[in-house]
Amino acid sequence: MSMNTQGRPTGVGTTGTSASGSALLPDEPLLFEIGDTEHSGVDLPDVTLSADRLGGFGRKSKLDLAGLTEPEAMRHYVRLSRLNHSIDSGMYPLGSCTMKHNPRLNEKMARLPGFADIHPLQPVSTVQGALELMNQLSHWLMTLTNTAAVALSPKAGAHGELLGMMAIKAAQDAAGQSHRKIVLVPESAHGTNPATAAFLGYSVKPIPARTDGTVDVQAVKDALSPEVAAIMLTNPNTCGLFEPQVIEIAKAVHDAGAFFYCDGANFNAIMGVVRPGDLGIDAMHINLHKTFSTPHGGGGPGAGPVVLSAALAPFAPVPFVRQGSNGLELVEHVEAEALGRVTAFHGQMGMYVRALTYMLSHGADGLAQAAQDAVLNANYVKARLEHVFSVPFPDYPTMHEALFDDSFLKGTDVSTLDFAKALIDEGFHPMTMYFPLVVHGAMLIEPTESESKQTLDHFCDVMAELATEAKSGNAERFTSAPMKAPRRRLDETRAARLPILKWEMPVETPKAAE
Ligand SMILES: *Cc1c(COP(=O)(O)O)cnc(C)c1O
Repeated sequence: MSMNTQGRPTGVGTTGTSASGSALLPDEPLLFEIGDTEHSGVDLPDVTLSADRLGGFGRKSKLDLAGLTEPEAMRHYVRLSRLNHSIDSGMYPLGSCTMKHNPRLNEKMARLPGFADIHPLQPVSTVQGALELMNQLSHWLMTLTNTAAVALSPKAGAHGELLGMMAIKAAQDAAGQSHRKIVLVPESAHGTNPATAAFLGYSVKPIPARTDGTVDVQAVKDALSPEVAAIMLTNPNTCGLFEPQVIEIAKAVHDAGAFFYCDGANFNAIMGVVRPGDLGIDAMHINLHKTFSTPHGGGGPGAGPVVLSAALAPFAPVPFVRQGSNGLELVEHVEAEALGRVTAFHGQMGMYVRALTYMLSHGADGLAQAAQDAVLNANYVKARLEHVFSVPFPDYPTMHEALFDDSFLKGTDVSTLDFAKALIDEGFHPMTMYFPLVVHGAMLIEPTESESKQTLDHFCDVMAELATEAKSGNAERFTSAPMKAPRRRLDETRAARLPILKWEMPVETPKAAE
């Protein structure tokens, strides 16, 4: 077998076996290592082009694509897909991310040709059903949150945050309040909150957490001034705790002439139970991929609709759906437009279908039950593990996620990172690590409502066994983990800072005499 310049045997993978990698999880080579750029995977007769129909713009350099047969190409991608962990293949306990099951009924509805095969430029008279669906989704999002308006189009939570804060900025500009340049952000906030505020030119003022993990109301009051534009508050917060004084915070913020932006990524813990509008929020994004069971994607296809209070409703972006004289219409321009549009077309239709399917298949009682089950599951995990792990904020029951810190690992030479890597060897995706930042060596676990008691028990057994093992002095099992994964410990910083995104043709090195 010949070797390429990276020292890997070429041709591996074409037979489905390889020298490294274990059993049926082959160490997958690159396309260029399976095939090469000199040969084609399909036999085509040579053609002589009679005339250049590309006006001289034809490619002059080599294409540099590996020539593979169809089965070779297909096996490569299928094998790669099997290296992915997914919610369809196992529990995914990432805290804050809400990796819940994506019901197959959602998928079935999203594939109905009347939704899947329409085009955003079709005349609205031919897509009344799709507009009706958007209208219904809007209705239920406003009903569940008790708010006056909703913008469906943002493509993710972070995009929704940006839109919500843009609406706040537009409202303040319209009211001659452009001098408000400060946004208050609690220390436990998701990184997207300060990033959003900074992106819009605000200066971010952090609000310290109290020792019990909740936001310090007095600190909020002390920080408020005529310069403050808004507070960005997550409720339930990222420590998994419901902010008990949220109404008092909302009142203080409004009394100071500022707006209350609520990060609603954790709405799954309270949907159908609490309406954020009743708590005094002005804008809140709802991650359909967290609360309403649509698939998560690496930045898409996502949807992060934003609900707005009556004060902000006039500053909603276009487009939105409205009842017109000839049925539903899509409003794409309004007078005195504050924001215009924030995305091409109308947003992610496929996600709207899935989210509404989830809502309608659960019903009002079912949505409340899903939230309560998510909270129950998180409290179960906390109760089962609190005697072996360390709980930073024991004063309150948790909401949808259980938070532990690393003090139980003190003196063991095992870090939160090591612990998470050892979990991979036991067949579980790690929990969220080192977030929220207010807790040292945080481990944030969100089981969601979709896991069975059997799965939760297995997860808790494994977690408890690992904790006991770490405390008993077997640091080796952790510091060298993962041992069973296709790749061992990666240099994550280098991978993030110096990613190699493009295959380069290896430079031919002259062979030494053999
Ligand atoms: C997930 C999350 C976000 C960002 O949402 P994306 O859809 O990932 O952009 C913001 N805040 C909190 C608390 C989150 O958990």
